[in-house]
Amino acid sequence: MNVNLNEVVGDVVSASVLNPEPTLPADPVLSTGPVLPTDPVLQTGPALPTVEELLRVCERSSADGRHREGAAQAEEILARPDATAVQQAQVRELLALHRLRLGDFEAAVQQGLLALEALTVSGDLLRQSKVHCTLALAFTDTGLTEQALRHVLSALEAARACGNTTAEFWALSRSSTVHGAMGDTARGVELGRQALTLSRALNDPEVNFVALNNLADSCLEAARVQRAQGLNASPTLHWGLALVREAVAVAHAQGHSFYETIALTNLVSILIVLNEHDEAREQAGRSKALAGIHGFRNLEVNNDAQLAEVVRAEGRIDDAIAMMEAQLADPSLEDDPPLLIRLHQSLFEMHKVGGRFEQALQHHEKLHALTLKMTTQTAEIQSQMLINTMGIEQANHEAERSQLEADMLRIRAEELDYQAHTDPLTRLPNRRALDRELPQLVDRSDGLTQPLCAAMIDMDHFKRVNDVYGHGTGDQVLAAMATLLRGVTRECDLAVRVGGEEFLLVLADTTPEQAEQICERLIASVRGYAWRDLADGLACTVSMGLASRDASESVGHWLARADTALYAAKNGGRDRVVAA
Ligand code: GH3
Ligand code: MG
Ligand code: MG
Repeated sequence: MNVNLNEVVGDVVSASVLNPEPTLPADPVLSTGPVLPTDPVLQTGPALPTVEELLRVCERSSADGRHREGAAQAEEILARPDATAVQQAQVRELLALHRLRLGDFEAAVQQGLLALEALTVSGDLLRQSKVHCTLALAFTDTGLTEQALRHVLSALEAARACGNTTAEFWALSRSSTVHGAMGDTARGVELGRQALTLSRALNDPEVNFVALNNLADSCLEAARVQRAQGLNASPTLHWGLALVREAVAVAHAQGHSFYETIALTNLVSILIVLNEHDEAREQAGRSKALAGIHGFRNLEVNNDAQLAEVVRAEGRIDDAIAMMEAQLADPSLEDDPPLLIRLHQSLFEMHKVGGRFEQALQHHEKLHALTLKMTTQTAEIQSQMLINTMGIEQANHEAERSQLEADMLRIRAEELDYQAHTDPLTRLPNRRALDRELPQLVDRSDGLTQPLCAAMIDMDHFKRVNDVYGHGTGDQVLAAMATLLRGVTRECDLAVRVGGEEFLLVLADTTPEQAEQICERLIASVRGYAWRDLADGLACTVSMGLASRDASESVGHWLARADTALYAAKNGGRDRVVAA
């Protein structure tokens, strides 16, 4: 009858081990505080509390184990239209935990997955690790261990990636739980041992307590398996005993009665298996007294069951039966099917051994009905959780696909736009690109009051090139010309193929004198180019007409002046630049 504290996060206790309604009476100062609207923190002004304030309150509920309140507060925040995406993720993280503690695993998983989605977008590894832990517990509690395993691995990975040792501890501790639940108790113990080693370095009493208590519990589980296999379980049990004694001491030193009661309960479980009846009775009594004082109703009931077990182990069967029957008469046990099952199981066994078959049969029937009910409920939750998980995964998949589609459309549109604005032979911008970009260039230079020059370029006697060397060589000449042009243009300039063997060079922030130099350089580089490499005897030159744009001159007028200058260059003998 061990109480596993694997479910402890902060000051919280598992809904699956204990009753769904947490019996943990949180710190009275905090627990007596009424629900939201009258919370003193929020009473100060007539204004609505901010989402951030509500989040703090919800976090406090989580830390204090007040999960019904916490869940209601979380739902309230989710309904707030002013909650940001980050805040929504935070609140879902908390809500997942509240729902888990309340035994609503389905909702826990749903909120956890939604939180995870948002945290993956924001890249918050620490929170991701925490949510993975919550999801792992929710899946473990419903027997979906494969999913649980996936999440503890992710929790561990995220914790290590962000270098947070506390997160790594929790991930290891959860991994231990998941492996134990999968029946791999040896691995459960090993992971628990690693978690304990980490916890020693952390110097956090709560973490240290959880590490000790949970590893002790794993030892007990492993010892049961060892015994069933006919192996010597004694070393494992004594290790567990030492650990749980330390856990009791740590909780006691902290003055944490709830933890102390849990550890004592687990201590009793190990003592019973070790047949240490006297100490088992003594410690169960201590635990029951603590539970009674502090109102830990579930733990108290557990202690009663343990005491009855001790009595049974001592061979006082009639007394044990009377104690267990008395427990069964308590209607509050309705909320604790696992305990009911244990009691009916023990009573069935004892009556059977005593030859009271009618009573044995009665307990067996109850046992059967309870087991069936639990199995059915678990199966229902399992299938619903899988459906939800699949639904969310499907939604993620669709979102990814539509994002991909959008990306593809955008790339296709960019490609089409490029094609429409680029000359395929020279890869230079074409006339359409000029129409789109020249006004922007003009506006920019006007705004900055910078000089702007246009050089109209025409290849000399190009018809002859085609005629003598063929159209293919002509094309090669045009491509080479484009390369030379690119050599004189900067990012802010514009070099365009405006037609056949005509180009336009627009030089931003360039004075007429500078432009003339650039033109001379280009003309020289054309003249000096190794044209003969393209065709024997080939030589090419260009003529250029340069015009600096006058203030508030229209683009049409400006380019016409460049054209006129080009005409003058042709008339002047070609292979030259003429400035307008
Ligand atoms: P000028 O020095 O007076 O400019 O004489 P030109 O021969 O260069 O002038 P003209 O306008 O008479 O000839 C231009 C030639 O450019 C005519 C045309 O066949 C050729 N051309 C235009 N586009 C292309 C092209 O894409 N590839 C090739 N190979 N030739 C082209
Ligand atoms: Mg021409
Ligand atoms: Mg020409």
